[in-house]
Amino acid sequence: MKALEEKILKEGKILGGDVLKVGSFLNQRIDVAFVMQMGEEIARLFEGEKITKIFTIESSGIAIAFAAATKMNVPVVFAKKNKSANVGDDVYTSRVHSFTHGNTYDAVVSKEFLSADDKVLIVDDFLARGNAIHGLIDMVGQSGAELIGAAIAIEKGFQGGGDELREKGLRVESLALIDSMEEGKITFRN
Ligand code: 5GP
Repeated sequence: MKALEEKILKEGKILGGDVLKVGSFLNQRIDVAFVMQMGEEIARLFEGEKITKIFTIESSGIAIAFAAATKMNVPVVFAKKNKSANVGDDVYTSRVHSFTHGNTYDAVVSKEFLSADDKVLIVDDFLARGNAIHGLIDMVGQSGAELIGAAIAIEKGFQGGGDELREKGLRVESLALIDSMEEGKITFRN
């Protein structure tokens, strides 16, 4: 998505440790009109797939998942990063290592929100090493639902998670795919 690449070049900030900050439109302040455009692009890419649910993880995946879901007319289900009192005990769970926070947590989702007759599209803001997506795939697997693919706003291709998933046969669509972020210069894969 050319407009997203341009926005990353204009507003993105490269932090240490291969982290890209896009707080001005996706992670802290949400540029609603722009995120809705990203959602439309995801809906276009997966048109005709008969998706019944979008599955993401709190908190940064929710905005883009919501945008795609609005266009696709399906509900968003999001995994919580730690089991809280309002989730209950009847859950699917997966252990995830966080790239940005350097910690490990148990992602959880109530069993009632994912079931074997669902066709699921996973959506997230970033794909780096693939840990968050692996956790979501794991929980989809536990539910018996069919996984249609994954749609990502920004993939950092040089961290390998996306290509590893593609090699395993998963359809992974990234709206912007960064090949390198060296010396302050961002290069996209065509
Ligand atoms: P992974 O699990 O694929 O290694 O990392 C993806 C998760 O970590 C995403 O859910 C995202 O929240 C966070 N993340 C990874 N890399 C970045 C980054 O460069 N910038 C931001 N803002 N979040 C990132």
